[in-house]
Amino acid sequence: MTYQLPALGYAYDALEPHFDAETMEIHHSRHHQTYVNNLNAALEGHKLSTLSVDDLITQLDSVPADKQKAIRNQGGGHANHSFFWKGLKPGGSTLQPGALRTAIEKDFSSVEIFKQQFEKAATTVFGSGWAWLVKQEGGGALKIVTTANQDSPLMGEAVAGASGFPILGLDVWEHAYYLKYRNKRPDYIKAFWSVVDWDEASRRFEESK
Ligand code: MN
Repeated sequence: MTYQLPALGYAYDALEPHFDAETMEIHHSRHHQTYVNNLNAALEGHKLSTLSVDDLITQLDSVPADKQKAIRNQGGGHANHSFFWKGLKPGGSTLQPGALRTAIEKDFSSVEIFKQQFEKAATTVFGSGWAWLVKQEGGGALKIVTTANQDSPLMGEAVAGASGFPILGLDVWEHAYYLKYRNKRPDYIKAFWSVVDWDEASRRFEESK
């Protein structure tokens, strides 16, 4: 078993009442575990499985054709969920003055306007997918992008229709919110701000330079 389900680092009920315990448990222990299992099955004994999952999906365009679909869907699922859990924090956190806050204010005018634009992008993903805040390549500006299914900006424009280094990511598949929020995806998206770990996002931003 090369790829493994990462521990959350907090209890399933730690994000209540914003992200409920039952959804968190099913999402992590079943949905995410299934992506991990399927990825391991697809790459069993293959030298590609020595790569970190982020490296694996970044090189999607150069992997053998018969592995591309599994790496895109199952590898993407593993990478995206691993990133998502790390970006959440019980009790949330505030975006402190610093490089990320300065960049958001420069590129979106204000944190409030950024949040509104992110919420709009996440709300309007048709079907299953993700909303992201990415740092564009080459020291570029921050940008809000969306991807379908388990595509990641790390896969690049040609595959995912989006590119950049993820700073924030929000899962908008129905499995992420339907038990608690039913059809009200916008309410789930607003709840994200109560559990997002801005300190982790700031670390990612520093790493992107
Ligand atoms: Mn998910």
